[in-house]
Amino acid sequence: MINLEGKKAVVTGGTSGIGLETARLLLQLGADVALCSRDAERVKATTQQLQEAYPARRVLGQACDVLDAEQVRSFAEQVRQSFGAVDALINNAGQGRVSTFASTTDEEWETELRLKFFSIIHPTRAFLPLLEQSSEPAIVCVNSLLAAQPEPHMVATSAARAGIKNLVRSLASEFSVKGIRVNGILLGLVDSGQWRRRYEAREDRSQSWEQWAGDLAKRKHIELGRLGRPEEAARAIVFLASSASSYTTGSHIDVSGGVSRYA
Ligand code: NDP
Repeated sequence: MINLEGKKAVVTGGTSGIGLETARLLLQLGADVALCSRDAERVKATTQQLQEAYPARRVLGQACDVLDAEQVRSFAEQVRQSFGAVDALINNAGQGRVSTFASTTDEEWETELRLKFFSIIHPTRAFLPLLEQSSEPAIVCVNSLLAAQPEPHMVATSAARAGIKNLVRSLASEFSVKGIRVNGILLGLVDSGQWRRRYEAREDRSQSWEQWAGDLAKRKHIELGRLGRPEEAARAIVFLASSASSYTTGSHIDVSGGVSRYA
């Protein structure tokens, strides 16, 4: 059992899906949690909800776009004032882009590459001084299996994800002297905000979520026959964020239900 009593963690994109379940699990295991996302109302509601569920922990929420360096710096300053050191930074905020090479404009390429890289670069830079004050610091980047197994209908996201896999390895090397471990998870299809949004936009309006998600799992050849649950991703994230993975750095855990076709 992982015990995070006295630990402090930061989760970007902590108001929905995987980020929210990660925040919940961190609190459940004893950590104080700071979270952010862009929607101020959602941040307020989520922070309140988590604080009520875990009254013995500290929950800090701030509206912050991870693509805005100044907002991220201000979030980190708020966390410094409340928490001091940070033991784990979970770079989770983001979403995928569905488009082929033919349908992706230069501007869309730039937007996607910027989202994937700077959603990690800004928080990592801003929280580095706080991570350096921890005795067991770790960074976890939420990545996609597309990094290793690209899909032509998500060409820009796939290419960007491959870059992130590479970046995780470089950060692990550069930060090893500081004792900061850097790892990622490779997700397949997880039932969260982005898939619910795609379901809402479905063509066949007669399909229920269960039918739609079941067909998707078949079409994508998911060995375990279903989409992943956000809490299944959260468990892998928390493992990498905690000292339970103390001898692991520069690596990625596959959380894809067997979608990966490489050994
Ligand atoms: P959700 O849409 O449920 O959650 C995304 C969270 O990120 C929300 O809290 C959202 O809040 C926040 N967010 C998005 N953009 C920003 C931003 N620029 N700055 C700050 N917060 C932001 O999606 P998931 O839980 O599925 O996604 C979590 C991560 O997992 C994402 O990086 C996604 O790309 C990745 N992933 C997910 C997969 C899946 O199948 N679900 C597969 C592969 C990767 P708000 O909109 O208010 O900012």
